[in-house]
Amino acid sequence: MCVDLHTHSIYSDGTSTPEELVLQAALLKLRGLAITDHDTMEGYREALDAGNRAGICIVSGLEISCLHGPLSLHMLGFGVDPENAVLNCKLQQLQDGRRTRNRQILAKLADLGIQISDDELQENSKCGQTGRPHIARLLVEKRIVSGMDQAFRRYLGKGKPAYVERFCFKAAEAIDFIHGAGGAAVLAHPGILSQDMRLQTRLVHELVERKLDGLEVFHPAHSKKVQKKLHGLTQRYNLITTGGSDYHGGNHGDKGLAGDKRNICPPDAILEELLERIEAIRVNGSNGSNGSKKK
Ligand code: AMP
Ligand code: FE
Ligand code: FE
Ligand code: ZN
Repeated sequence: MCVDLHTHSIYSDGTSTPEELVLQAALLKLRGLAITDHDTMEGYREALDAGNRAGICIVSGLEISCLHGPLSLHMLGFGVDPENAVLNCKLQQLQDGRRTRNRQILAKLADLGIQISDDELQENSKCGQTGRPHIARLLVEKRIVSGMDQAFRRYLGKGKPAYVERFCFKAAEAIDFIHGAGGAAVLAHPGILSQDMRLQTRLVHELVERKLDGLEVFHPAHSKKVQKKLHGLTQRYNLITTGGSDYHGGNHGDKGLAGDKRNICPPDAILEELLERIEAIRVNGSNGSNGSKKK
């Protein structure tokens, strides 16, 4: 059986509701599912209720963009308590940062002769964690670009004319507040950072010193070779393995949830391992491994 521990809902830049994701997961007979929206856990309660009805184990999750030196990383948090006050304060800071940046991006687009109002953006993203993907969607709707990818390549991507940095925490800070909220911190899709896995080897070493718990080994962007290298790193540092589709819905050209014929199938054994690690973090306060070797 497969699990999918990396998905996005309408509460960030996905197009499915949490319930729709759970129903899809049920059709694919997945054993476990985590919704890992960017900077928010708003979808968790809905997913949990739907998961209980469908008999699917729902793990609370989120995905936080953060910095480590010059690198921009994504950190997954699993098993975090959605009511944790410090976590919510951090998420509020990220949301404020997004709002400020969205205004700056719209101003830059206006300078380029492209008019998108604040209201239009809010209307387009509805309950979403509004960000560049929603602006990209509007650029597509207005026929200014032919697709999301072109929107990022021409305007919104790093170094492009409407690019603006947004407030981000350091990776070590994100690991700490994920632990503080009782969760496990896992580096998302390490394979897409660079083709040169030497960079990842060094990065993982540094993040393990900051108490990283795991690596997302199974991801549609990871070749078998990359998966093997990442697996080697999990063994070396006693890290847990996670995996998921990173499904955002129809507008990203994604292949669907894990377990779909054309897609990856992270084995359900990783769910057990993840739940054990989360439990250990709850008991030990932070990194549940404490450097001990795997059984
Ligand atoms: P933001 O969080 O607002 O900085 O937007 C980052 C999100 O934009 C990523 O998590 C992706 O989901 C999405 N994204 C980044 N590059 C592209 C691209 N080339 N095409 C479509 N979506 C993208
Ligand atoms: Fe995304
Ligand atoms: Fe990501
Ligand atoms: Zn993601």
